[in-house]
This record gives sequence, C-alpha cells and structure tokens, in this order.
Amino acid sequence: MIACNSEQNKKQVSKAPIVEDVIIKPIVIATWNTPIAVNEAAKVLESGGTALDAVEAGCRIEEANIDNQTVGIGALPDRDGNVTLDACIMDDKGNYGAVLCVENITHVVSVARKVMEETPHAILVGKGAEEFAVSEGFKREKLLSEKSKKAWENWKGTSKYQPIINIENHDTIGMLAVDKKGSISGACTTSGLAYKMRGRVGDSPVIGGGLFIDNEIGGAAATGLGEEVLKTVGSFLVVELMRQGKTPQEACKEAIKRIVSKPNSDYKNFQVAYIAVNKKGEIGGYSIHEWFSYNVYREGKTKNITSDYYLKT
Ligand code: ASP
Repeated sequence: MIACNSEQNKKQVSKAPIVEDVIIKPIVIATWNTPIAVNEAAKVLESGGTALDAVEAGCRIEEANIDNQTVGIGALPDRDGNVTLDACIMDDKGNYGAVLCVENITHVVSVARKVMEETPHAILVGKGAEEFAVSEGFKREKLLSEKSKKAWENWKGTSKYQPIINIENHDTIGMLAVDKKGSISGACTTSGLAYKMRGRVGDSPVIGGGLFIDNEIGGAAATGLGEEVLKTVGSFLVVELMRQGKTPQEACKEAIKRIVSKPNSDYKNFQVAYIAVNKKGEIGGYSIHEWFSYNVYREGKTKNITSDYYLKT
C-alpha cells in the first residue's frame, strides 16, 4: 500500500496548470481552397479573438467575393434565375443559428449568427429570414452577377432541368476554428447546388448535416451533394465517431463509407467530402472523388491539403 503524504499532495495539486491559462495554438480548417478567407479567420484567432468571431469573419470574405459563384453575392442561381443562400453557425456552447433560402442578402453567415444570438429560434427561412436581416440593419442587394446570369442563360439552352453536382469544382465554405482557449466553433455558407429547384435547401445550413460542433469532442463540416450528407446526418456522424475514439481522419473516412455503402448508392456520380478537427488539434479530411482539397491554418501558415479519397482507380 502506498502511504499518502497529504502535505506533498497539496503541493502537487497547487502546481497543476490552470486549464484556462493554457494558450492553445489556433487552428482553422476549411473546405476547398479559399486561403484569403482562412487567413482572415486566422488573423482573428491570432489577435486573441474567439473561434466564433473567426469563422464568421472568414466566411464573410467569400460571401463578398463576387467571383465565387457558390457563395454569397455573385453565386449561381436556381433554375428559375433566383440566387438563394443558406448559412449556419455553431458555437462552443452548442448554440446554433441558421438561415435557409434567403434572397437579396450577401452576408447570410452573419444573419445566421443574429438568429442564434438575438432570437429564441434556431432557423429562419426565406422571406422571414430576409425581413429579419433587414430589421437587423443588413442591406438588400442584387446577388445575381452578370457572369452568373450568363452561365444560367447558357445552362437553360441545354439544361436537363435537374440539379447536377459538379464533382471537381465547389467553393461552399465549411469552416472550423479552434481559438487560443481551445474552444471550437464552425460556420457554413453556400448557394447550394447551381440550378437547383426553387426552394431547395441542402445540408450546409442544417445542424448535424453540413456542420456540427461539440466542444468536448471536436467539429466537422461537409461539402458536396447535400442530399446525401443529410441522409446520413454526416457532420454529426463524424463528431460522434470521434467521440467513440476515431481520429478526425478515420471519422471522415468512415462517414464517407456510410454513403458509398448504401444499397444502390450512385456515389460514382456525386461528390461528398468532410473535414474535421478534434480537441487535441488533430485534423482530417476525406472525399468520395479526387479533386477535393482543404485549407489548414496553424502556426502562422496556411496550407492547401489534397484530400485522400475513396474512388481510387
Ligand atoms: N453541400 C452544398 C449543398 O448541397 C453544396 C456544396 O457543397 O457544393 O447545398
């Protein structure tokens, strides 16, 4: 039996680090290749800002980028020519806010944050979300750019009138951040599928679909064909797999396996990808097809990482 020396014990206890004083090296991880957005989020973190402020600031960069045709102003419209945007945000306390199918407002990620912080609700949709945004001081803007209008007019010429996922080129942003206190938040912003049916919403703004955060475990975000992510509650699944002990990489891979191993899965014709970060600061990413990459910021550098993927020939 080991004798217990209480004096010695007290000393050991008082020497234990106070968790709140531990400074963590901030991390940002985001779908696809949007380094300017990631760097903006990193800037917030490095100056001591919260993960929540970081993901909002990062997403806003691409929402304002008129050349990014899958997020914010300048996005490709639905099949009837309307640009409708979806966004959500989730913080380290498990709070969540989202707006779905919003027209005429560029910074939907910030509207989602307002829903989370200023209303008793989690989701606002369509006109109601737009009116709420305006009441909060957001400007109505024309979102359809000349470039996207032309692309839509070309599409109408040959359209099959069904939403098509482009396997190789998306810019929907799912962004996760870990701040200096080690707290995790995430956000997602998108125009969804180009030429979708009017009113269609994918996974991106749906809790557990395009994004999920559990500050005890980690966070995950998705991109690709939202219908398939939703049917497996993909981002929630990734976080739950990490809770069961999988690394972020293993969890992303397993969540993709759930999609491709469904009976009659048409996975050869659509893309889905996940990114994840855990409480230890480990990261992961995995997709069905080649051509997915994600940006990671840590220790002063932003890198674009080519994802591992399921469909290797
Ligand atoms: N996940 C988005 C959606 O289905 C699309 C994308 O990531 O490209 O709305």
